[in-house]
Amino acid sequence: RNNSFQSKSMDKDKLLDGLILPGFGERSCLSRYQSILYRRISPHKPSPFLLSKLRDYEGLHKRCGPHSISYNRTLKVLKSSHVGITRECKYIVWRPDNGLGNRMASMASSFLYALLSNRVLLVDHGTDMADLFCEPFPNTSWLLPKDFPLRNQFHNSQLRYAHSLRGMLEKGRINKSMEATPPYLYLTLKKREDNLDKQVFYCDQSQVLLQKVPWLILLSEQYFVPSFFLIPSFKEEVSKLFPEKETVFHHLGRYLFNPSNRVWRQLITRFYDAYLAKADKRVGLQIRVFHANAAHIQTVMDQISECTVKKKLLPKVDTTKSASSSTKNQKPSKVILVASLYSEFYMNLSNMYLAKPDLSGEVIGVYQPSQEGYQHRGDNIHNMKAWAEIYLLSLCDVLVTSAWSTFGYVAQSLGGLKPWILQKPKLAGHGIFVPCKRATSMEPCFHYPFSYDCKSRNNLDAAALVPYIRQCEDRELGVKLF
Ligand code: GDP
Repeated sequence: RNNSFQSKSMDKDKLLDGLILPGFGERSCLSRYQSILYRRISPHKPSPFLLSKLRDYEGLHKRCGPHSISYNRTLKVLKSSHVGITRECKYIVWRPDNGLGNRMASMASSFLYALLSNRVLLVDHGTDMADLFCEPFPNTSWLLPKDFPLRNQFHNSQLRYAHSLRGMLEKGRINKSMEATPPYLYLTLKKREDNLDKQVFYCDQSQVLLQKVPWLILLSEQYFVPSFFLIPSFKEEVSKLFPEKETVFHHLGRYLFNPSNRVWRQLITRFYDAYLAKADKRVGLQIRVFHANAAHIQTVMDQISECTVKKKLLPKVDTTKSASSSTKNQKPSKVILVASLYSEFYMNLSNMYLAKPDLSGEVIGVYQPSQEGYQHRGDNIHNMKAWAEIYLLSLCDVLVTSAWSTFGYVAQSLGGLKPWILQKPKLAGHGIFVPCKRATSMEPCFHYPFSYDCKSRNNLDAAALVPYIRQCEDRELGVKLF
């Protein structure tokens, strides 16, 4: 009895409390069932309503997925100028924009939008995102087929504008009654402040309108999840899905983003087993700097040391002594995982901790998986390394992250961690310099929230509407869930 109880509770852990299905491609996606061997069991449980919603979604995706009868039927409406009746299947076609962290934040947001609006999410991953993730939904695919008919429009800004929500509203081609529903619409939710799509997307009237359009082609680099907690037609359901509001990305991210076997075996587990597994404590440092000159690097390095020592994440080193040979061969009790495009921080920390014993006699190992130098655009291998590092950071016990970085946000939410955020110097205030601030929740920050009141058409402050959405710690204009 004991054994069967144990194996049942292990199954429950392995399936992340029901987030993932048993027996779904165990060989084709090792990470989905092996994550439990690397990541601590999450204290946050998905709600029964979320689990049933996910199971329903899986059914819908299978029925409507690429090349299904329903998919082929819904494709046909693309050729007509407007849609007669609402079809069984409606879609969100997600298009990539910006770096991997931004892309994952916007994919998770788009998936939540799909769940709330009963749409199917298809992603256009292209060659630079090939083989990063496992297929998330059983017996179907989330990849937008290569022969999707609108592909040749994707790079034509005039056509995109003509078929955008904004373009249609400006030209009076759609109205509230939506007598002639267009078969597809481009929707852009990007950072530009004057973005009309963005303003109207958050208004309930637009959602009524959008609901009828079978194909929405969505371009966003933002984590727009908090907005669903404010849109009247979604807020009740989304609060029921996520009674614990700060867990949206934590649950949806672990459900959607499982590393492919190649990333899992060649990059994540190989590195983890070799360098991180044996330590008692893993400290992840995610260092995103935009001016890689020596003076700036030194400033950030000083900030990291001040933060990690002050917050007791890392010990202070004794600069007057050098390491004795006995400490050099000890197994590290703490390891520092450095994620950065540059090598300087790693070099600096290694010199500090390997050459000098620290005051508490602890042995510290310092490791960095890659040093890419700059953000390579359109490069699949580069994105694989980025994904592996985001995942490795999420396996750490504590995190120190950089302000404004979606790369760090994804790692913290997957790992269920509230990081110490290195403040941008100008955010540190005029008087005392605060090197880092503890995040109040593990959720990503929505950098460019809407600021438009649909009724009065005046500006509003999205951080002042409900108690569980507040200003981000690392960006005054941004909001996040708590
Ligand atoms: P953000 O710009 O910090 O919000 O993060 P993004 O992930 O959207 O864009 C930054 C991109 O630069 C990443 O996707 C990587 O391609 C690259 N990059 C930035 N920092 C790192 C790092 O620490 N490690 C690796 N491998 N790549 C990085």
